[in-house]
Amino acid sequence: MGSPDAIFGVTEAYKHDKNPKKMNLSVGTYRDDKGKPYVLPCVRKAEEQLLKMNLDKEYAPIAGIAEFCNRTAELAFGNGSEIITNGLNATLQGLSATGCLRVGAAFLNSFFPGKKVIYIPNPTWFSHTSIFKHAGLDVQSYKYYKPDTHSFDFEGALHDISKIPEKSIILFHACAHNPTGVDPNLQQWTEISQMVKKRNLFLIFDMVYQGFASADIDNDAQAVRLFVKDGHKIALVQSFSKNMALEGERVGALTITAASKEEAAKIISQVKILIRPMYSTPPLHGARIANHILGDPKMKADWYQEVNGMANRIISMRAKLRDNLKKEGSSKNWEHIANQNGMFSLTGMTPPQVEKLVKEYSIYLTSNGRISMAGVSSNNVDYLAHAIHAVTK
Ligand code: PMP
Repeated sequence: MGSPDAIFGVTEAYKHDKNPKKMNLSVGTYRDDKGKPYVLPCVRKAEEQLLKMNLDKEYAPIAGIAEFCNRTAELAFGNGSEIITNGLNATLQGLSATGCLRVGAAFLNSFFPGKKVIYIPNPTWFSHTSIFKHAGLDVQSYKYYKPDTHSFDFEGALHDISKIPEKSIILFHACAHNPTGVDPNLQQWTEISQMVKKRNLFLIFDMVYQGFASADIDNDAQAVRLFVKDGHKIALVQSFSKNMALEGERVGALTITAASKEEAAKIISQVKILIRPMYSTPPLHGARIANHILGDPKMKADWYQEVNGMANRIISMRAKLRDNLKKEGSSKNWEHIANQNGMFSLTGMTPPQVEKLVKEYSIYLTSNGRISMAGVSSNNVDYLAHAIHAVTK
């Protein structure tokens, strides 16, 4: 018997719990303020309009829907980006971030001319290590986080990056780092970009939370745009799991930037050869939804607003949780909960405290003390603060 998944395993345990106050804060899925799963109004509208179009269900091309790929790349690189107008982006539709990371890693394992070693932040999202190992890459890490101050370890990261052997691969979270919720600021990104160039590293951006860090889609692409402006060639993974709440539809894209249009075409041809025996072609439905929204200026503007609304609801819950912990009488500093970005908060709770939260309060989270702020609502934030204070005092 294999061991249960670190995140979906927690959800299984949650489902069996009979406590009416139970909370599932393990998985990063957005909930509305009543704690219910959320389908974005623009997604519902797109589905209704797509239904009326009576589209067929034949296979998508191996690289997915071309229009979807262009529009998705534009979200990252920006309107009128030279990468796109010059055809330097090899963009393919894939199975959300996980699938795109896996395919991108397979491509690098086959064609990257340098060392087949990828450096990932410590800590990082649970699956990064296994995805890259599965694709045959060696996995190492660089410092990212200072637990005592709950902040980005800029000096540590820069120092570790300066020691990475030349022509290796490095991964960055483009924004709203999971699990820490802390990102480099623009000045720090600028210095990191210079160091990455100095070490001649190839980089992958994992961008799953575009819109969730600053509540603004364009602003959250600033790191990607900066690295491109600095002349880096990058691989970029995008997902609509979070910002369109399309987790179950598996919608995303992989881009590899190229030196020429001809090189971009060659990259696409080789990635297609890798995809064919893996899953053959990507699913249509979710990509059609995203494509429909991105292709209609009014719907796209509505979507920007809806993302802004989701991000701001989370931001307000962060402040509420911090304030409630104070009201409960906690003498600890919980400021980081309000300061962190994106969907998650790395609270600083220890594994035994987490165990107590699960056993005594039916609040489910991962053992590293990470909570999905997207699952906190006006209904349960008081109970959560009460429980966190009880297990940490
Ligand atoms: N990368 C990061 C950093 C993530 O947090 C997640 C989701 N938790 C993923 C990738 C995978 O997301 P998906 O496959 O649903 O796009």
